[in-house]
Amino acid sequence: MTPGRPVPPPLAKPITPASDAGVLAAAYGAVSSDSGLVPLTVARRAPKPDDVEIAIEFCGLCHSDVHAVRGEWGGQTYPLVPGHEIVGTVSRIGAGVTDFSVGDRVGVGCIVDSCRECDSCLDGLEQYCEKGMTGTYGATDRRNGDATTQGGYSSSIVVDRRYVVRVPESLDPAAVAPLLCAGVTTFSPLRHFDVEEGDVVGVVGLGGLGHMAVKLAKAMGAKVVVFTTSESKVPAALELGADEVVLSRDEEAMAAADRTIDLIIDTVAAPHDLNPLFRTLRVDGALFQLGLPSEAMPPVNPRALIRRRIAYAGSLIGGIAETQEMLDFCAEHGVVADIEVVSASGLNDAYDRMVAGDVKYRFVLDTSTLQAPAKEADA
Ligand SMILES: [Zn+2]
Ligand SMILES: [Zn+2]
Repeated sequence: MTPGRPVPPPLAKPITPASDAGVLAAAYGAVSSDSGLVPLTVARRAPKPDDVEIAIEFCGLCHSDVHAVRGEWGGQTYPLVPGHEIVGTVSRIGAGVTDFSVGDRVGVGCIVDSCRECDSCLDGLEQYCEKGMTGTYGATDRRNGDATTQGGYSSSIVVDRRYVVRVPESLDPAAVAPLLCAGVTTFSPLRHFDVEEGDVVGVVGLGGLGHMAVKLAKAMGAKVVVFTTSESKVPAALELGADEVVLSRDEEAMAAADRTIDLIIDTVAAPHDLNPLFRTLRVDGALFQLGLPSEAMPPVNPRALIRRRIAYAGSLIGGIAETQEMLDFCAEHGVVADIEVVSASGLNDAYDRMVAGDVKYRFVLDTSTLQAPAKEADA
């Protein structure tokens, strides 16, 4: 616990009233923008015909969790249980579920619902749902009584089967958790660009997203060049499998990288100048920006784009079918995230370390360390 933050209250009342056969889940979440994470109890709905109830084993800590919990993106309702990198086993299924059985190891990422009718949803691009996808936490659950969705820093969750993916048994479940957000967020643009053997992929930034981009691009057969501002990250980049590291503040090194890259995956969320990066791209190259800076970026010079027919694109996580494809790809190639497992009592310290960039490369909560949920009589 960071000094100065309020002491956690005892287990709070359930966030939503428990229905007949729903379960009370132990959780950690925020009760205000400056409360830090405190023990909470969440009432999960009883599985409806299409629902899968999941006993959560692990949940990754994503940088967006920190922004949401601290209200840095505005409009946040509290209490809020974050977490959208969820791995667990099926504990119950609704009467209409035939594709999952009790005991199956499954995952849930950033999306728990969408309109299911628009062109994006019908194309398996639920993340671009025209009516807005339902996020795993902090979103209005349109189909379930307008409750606010509550995420995976919790002992269980109930999700419609359409938004649940299968986790290959060959992979370490804790190290799989970050694949559900960081993994698919980098996999999707690599696939969209059809990266294959012989391509050269540049990765800008070496955090949770960047380290996955390196591993996935290598597994696709690409040569990988990491761009970083900090010399201290060079050994780590090479250790992850990068073929080369370019210090982006070294003008000579950047000039030497002119026209050497096919695709850049830019994971840096702080404002930074993209123009020097465009100059490292070949004709028909592309730069995908994945980080969303809270302040304005330096302007892009269209000349750099025009002269080499370069595409400057963005990309948001991935759809459900693509998330499954990514997990199967990772099983085939033995790719998982590099993680540090934390207990519930260590979450607030982990947040501070994430903000300081002091993690290689993703924290994962072991949900067996959550307190037992409050009984209804005590609530
Ligand atoms: Zn995330
Ligand atoms: Zn839709």
